Amino acid sequence: MSRLPLGEMPGGIHPAEHKSQSNGTPIQQAPLPKRLILPLNQHIGAQAQPCVAVGERVLKGQLIATANGTISVPLHAPTSGIVSFIGPQPYPHVSGLLSEAIVIDSDGLEQWVELSPCADYRSLAPAELLAIIRSAGINGLGGAGFPTAVKLSARSAQKIHTLIINGTECEPYITADDRLMRERATQLIGGIEILVQLIAPEAVLIGIEDNKPEAIAAVQAAIGPRPFTLKVLPTQYPSGGEKQLIQLLTGAEVPSGGLPADIGMLCLNVGTVVAIHAAVLEGRPLISRITTLTGAALSRPMNIEALIGTPVGELLAFAGLQEAQLDRLLLGGPLMGFSLPSLEVPLIKTSNCLLASTATELPPAPPALPCIRCGDCAEVCPASLLPQQLHFFALGQQHEQLKTHNLFDCIECGACAYVCPSNIPLVQYYRAAKADIRELENKQLKAEQSRQRFEQRQERLRGEQEQKDAERQARTEKVARAKAALAASQTSAESGALPAAPQGLSDEQKKLKIAASMAQVTLKKAEKQLALYTDKGGDTRELQAQVAQLRSAALSAQSALDAALATAPAAASTPDAELALKKAKIQVAMLRAQVRKFEQLEEPNAEHAKQLQGLREQLAAAEQVLEGLPSQPPASLAPPVLNAAMQALKQAKIALAMRRAELKKAEQTGAEELTALRAALAAAEQALHAAEDACGKPAPNLQRLDKQPIDETTRALKTAVALARADLRKLERDPDTPEAALSDARQRLLTAEQHLQQQHS
Ligand code: SF4
Ligand code: SF4
Repeated sequence: MSRLPLGEMPGGIHPAEHKSQSNGTPIQQAPLPKRLILPLNQHIGAQAQPCVAVGERVLKGQLIATANGTISVPLHAPTSGIVSFIGPQPYPHVSGLLSEAIVIDSDGLEQWVELSPCADYRSLAPAELLAIIRSAGINGLGGAGFPTAVKLSARSAQKIHTLIINGTECEPYITADDRLMRERATQLIGGIEILVQLIAPEAVLIGIEDNKPEAIAAVQAAIGPRPFTLKVLPTQYPSGGEKQLIQLLTGAEVPSGGLPADIGMLCLNVGTVVAIHAAVLEGRPLISRITTLTGAALSRPMNIEALIGTPVGELLAFAGLQEAQLDRLLLGGPLMGFSLPSLEVPLIKTSNCLLASTATELPPAPPALPCIRCGDCAEVCPASLLPQQLHFFALGQQHEQLKTHNLFDCIECGACAYVCPSNIPLVQYYRAAKADIRELENKQLKAEQSRQRFEQRQERLRGEQEQKDAERQARTEKVARAKAALAASQTSAESGALPAAPQGLSDEQKKLKIAASMAQVTLKKAEKQLALYTDKGGDTRELQAQVAQLRSAALSAQSALDAALATAPAAASTPDAELALKKAKIQVAMLRAQVRKFEQLEEPNAEHAKQLQGLREQLAAAEQVLEGLPSQPPASLAPPVLNAAMQALKQAKIALAMRRAELKKAEQTGAEELTALRAALAAAEQALHAAEDACGKPAPNLQRLDKQPIDETTRALKTAVALARADLRKLERDPDTPEAALSDARQRLLTAEQHLQQQHS
């Protein structure tokens, strides 16, 4: 924060004041107009939102439009009447464009809405005071129109230590604040006390130019013993600029692009402070203001308190407008004001002066000449800018240069244009350049927002596509796995072979697989033999018994393999375990059904009994295997394959013991089916071999276990049987063996077995 000597500001001019035209008479009350036009955007920020409808009767002071967001201001009915129109209406702007407005036809009754004055405002919290000011629809009455409640809501980091009250009114012709301070100094000081209650500043400074002695006296008297400081400033234009006044009163300089709050200061116009007083202590919303009616085209210049929305033509008529004399009608003073497009436009909250000038009073500006680089404009600029450079950059639309040269610090005071010997309308160039830059920045902002929305949408679409791809890939893989499992299952079912073994089988699994394959091959061969004998009508009982035993052995071997595949953590996957469990259950169910079928026979013969016995044994083995399988697929390193294999081994041992007991009993009783029982015993021994292989145990010494004392004759007969059987098998392996030779070999084997059987018996 830089400092200049107190009471000084850079630049400034001393134009003719012309204030005496209007400040000699007290403030007049304007007559009630028949029709009021209330624009919705009488302030900086978002325009208010109508909350009344056409045809609705409203009371004086009633809310007719609500604030639209934080930077906005509500609007109230200035008188009682009927809402006759809501839509585009004439608006006091240099463009002459229409603006949205609420039109009220006055009923002449001036019937007030019920007000809520608050005499004891010191009991209110700051937020409550602020809410009153906000709901009263107050914005700055000095010209800019910034929402006052927003201005008073300084962030906590911006502690306001100095409250500055602006009573300078430096522009020629305008005397509204002068008359207000003279006549309503008490309300002014009352409003300052409300502000002190609200923001608790350390100092209050009131600045008034020395060309208003009556106002200075009135305010000083109203201040009384209060710790408010009234500073009288030399008359100089534009001392009323916010930044300039702060500099004049405190020596502090608001930084470029900054706000007074940035340096702990807050500046309010005297009219605004009086409006705050009325809002809090009387409960009155802002529905009227004091404005100066002046200019040589008026026969009775004055200051007048008029309702917001009063057409300016009616006000000027009240002040004795001589339309024949009227050359230009300005809203504001001759330096910062602008020409009004018609007399139909309404008075709004920021209208501080209507200047009806004659041609001799404010003659048209002469044609502009080229800049002679005299530097006078820079001499008078209160913002320490280089107006001629800004003019040069504005002509070339060099926006970056304009921003670099602090175009937006220009307060459009017009001092530069006032002194320019080339009559260049400098301020118009600056306004146009500011509008261009703001429009361009708005476009860039919108384009950036559009770009961000587009990128966010692209990102979202990309994410959705990636998710779809991942889901599609997962579905494809799932289908592929299901197809592979189905194909493996079909292959296994069609060939009777084992399901495809996973990669990396353990040694035990390999042994089980080999044993199961061998058992299947043996079984198929026996079945083939049985089918052949059956076709020839021979006695197949022995062969049937053999097939039954081999089937049991094959089942045991395959179940042991299934169990190993299902439970082995390294080799069996979850689907394999499920498959093994499923197959074991199916096998059990099928055997149970077959057992039930035989059990339900009304007159079973010996063959039926034998088959039933074989099926029961198979069922017992299958149930044993099923019990050895986990009911759920293994989730981790499951029970070792050895458990299932041991179960199968145990079952095989039991089967072998049973066969052996049956054979022994038959031999002792001289039964005829010795051959079949011996074959069953051999099959049981084979199954035991397979089961022991699966367990990794050495093969049992069957010779020793089966060793029986035999004589030489028996041994010779057995040898004969073995030789006959070997011959037969040799012939059977040769596909070209004549049927007669096969028949002879079978007969020899049968004869040898009969001889052996006779020997045993
Ligand atoms: S006062 Fe006018 S002529 Fe002189 S430098 Fe400024 S713009 Fe140019
Ligand atoms: S209008 Fe802008 S550039 Fe000209 S004197 Fe005023 S602040 Fe300076």
